[in-house]
Amino acid sequence: MRDRLRLAIPNKGRLVEPTLGLLHDAGLVFEEHDRSLVARVQNFDLDILFVRTNDVIEFVGDGVADLGVTGIDLLSESGVDLPRIRTLGYGQCRLAAAVPADTPHQAVEDLAGLRVATAHPNTARRFFAERQIPVEVVPISGAVEVAPRLGLADAIIDLVSTGSTLVMNGLRPIGDVLASEALLVANPNALSRRAEALGAIDTMLSAVIAARGRKYLMMNAPASRLSVLEELLPGLESPSVIPLAHAGMIAIHSVVDADAVWGLLPRLKAAGASGILVLPIEKIVP
Ligand code: AMP
Repeated sequence: MRDRLRLAIPNKGRLVEPTLGLLHDAGLVFEEHDRSLVARVQNFDLDILFVRTNDVIEFVGDGVADLGVTGIDLLSESGVDLPRIRTLGYGQCRLAAAVPADTPHQAVEDLAGLRVATAHPNTARRFFAERQIPVEVVPISGAVEVAPRLGLADAIIDLVSTGSTLVMNGLRPIGDVLASEALLVANPNALSRRAEALGAIDTMLSAVIAARGRKYLMMNAPASRLSVLEELLPGLESPSVIPLAHAGMIAIHSVVDADAVWGLLPRLKAAGASGILVLPIEKIVP
């Protein structure tokens, strides 16, 4: 057995930057890929393999890598059944069915008897078969959104994040096929034989993911205001309350959703809090 673990990540495309960001935030130190295949992590027994997004699943499936970062859509399309360790909080998109905006179709059922172009033919066939909708799936590998205009198909199934590409191409979504996000997958043998090492990496990544989108709030307040303030703070657990040198004054610390902070600040102030600090959180291990 190799001593160093191997993690395969995409070397090109949308998942590269957020994946590198996650690994760096987790505290892994390595030279960024400079187009080489392997980067040695200096502070952990881990090598990072930079491969094509589509090949990540093959590397992990074959055991060439123990872990990999890929998209749910790609795993679904590959048909390979790899253990899914966790979603990573980025690369969110959906596979959606869309039709030219000037056609009457309103739902995926309306595609019965029509041709549907997609770069995800296996996922599409499975989707329609499960719903017993007879369609002809036309596999194409790129520029799916122009297929209806070229007369290649009546509808498409394609990845959508904001929907602006569809609109620009005169298309209208009529239903979702699959919700996707970046995903950490494992080789099944590695998962049983190297459970501890894989668990350590998963903990490092999950601690960063949990901390993103949360803030640490600190404030001072008269002790008499505690119960009012507590009601405003739906933290992880109950807030920490620390007595201050001034009699009758306390400090309150709490973890809150980052999205809630702006709404919360004026209400905390109105309820008697002062000297409010909002701090970033690096990692949370529950
Ligand atoms: P790439 O084609 O290498 O840029 O990577 C494509 C992968 O990124 C897809 O398979 C998805 O998992 C993910 N992704 C996230 N958002 C989008 C999007 N709007 N369009 C295409 N792929 C996306």
